[in-house]
Amino acid sequence: MNQETPICPLCGNNAPKAVERVWRSYRLYDCPGCEVGFCVPFENPGSGYYAQFEDLYPHQAQRTTDAMSFEYDECLRFLRGRKLDGRRLLDIGCGAGGFLNRARGEGFGVWGVDFNEVRLDLIRSELGIDTVFHGSLEDFAAAHPDLRFDVITMFQVLEHLDRPGRWLEKARSLLAPGGFFFVAVPNRGRTFDPFQGPGMEELDTPPNHLTRWSASALRGFLGRHGFESVEIKSLDVPRPLLALILRNRLRLGLATKALKVDELQHVKAAAGASPAGAKTRLIQSAVFLKESAINGMTRLVYPGFKLACRAFGWQGIVLYCVARRHDARTPL
Ligand SMILES: [Zn+2]
Repeated sequence: MNQETPICPLCGNNAPKAVERVWRSYRLYDCPGCEVGFCVPFENPGSGYYAQFEDLYPHQAQRTTDAMSFEYDECLRFLRGRKLDGRRLLDIGCGAGGFLNRARGEGFGVWGVDFNEVRLDLIRSELGIDTVFHGSLEDFAAAHPDLRFDVITMFQVLEHLDRPGRWLEKARSLLAPGGFFFVAVPNRGRTFDPFQGPGMEELDTPPNHLTRWSASALRGFLGRHGFESVEIKSLDVPRPLLALILRNRLRLGLATKALKVDELQHVKAAAGASPAGAKTRLIQSAVFLKESAINGMTRLVYPGFKLACRAFGWQGIVLYCVARRHDARTPL
């Protein structure tokens, strides 16, 4: 395999590295020093890039978190009943505010940072949360030099960053003594991959995701930036996510082949109240039947799937980590 010598943007390692994969104009490497997978060029595409993922980043405030992700539930379960000096929480990459709303419901004073100004406005107007800020964590920290948080969360953000070490240093500086830092990233060791099929591969490749993480890579990276991991694990696959994986596997393309049309495009067009021809109605019925079958099948196999995950050590899709500052003195 091709050996090159890019400097690891996470640990500075300059040893030769194998090109693991070429994806469009990017080269993907694994660092032998810190075990993190990174890409060259290593550059975040800017907030405008994310506007194309409308389904992932909806333009409305959310009152709860995504049913396909367990990290929010894990975090709140961990915090419930735990003694904290204060209950001030900062969610980095607060998105549409679903987690802020849930955390507020658990008695936290919530603050958020995000790059999407439209959704921050919606969080203010629809959820009534005014403590949300547009910009980077560095901007936020500079504007609030005296603020400290008992809980800082950074779910599905680290893998997008082109200066991840800087963000961790800022998060650390904003954490109150004895406070907790929660991180979740895609698990590169996952047994089942939801990022396959049309339109899905882009989600876990650059410029969307710049880094790839294992548990030990994440533990090491946090450790080098002044955090001690309290708990690190891959989370169970939620049932809706299993349904998505099955759906992608079972996208047989029958409509595409038989009728020379795209079934998904037709479903979207119908949702937009376009005139429904016989062909469209036929496709809609077929898609509806397939969806019902997949949902029914998922419901049926899910308990067994969870047991099999335990029995065979199948890894989930999300790596979840609870950390504290190295200098935290308060006992857990
Ligand atoms: Zn490295």
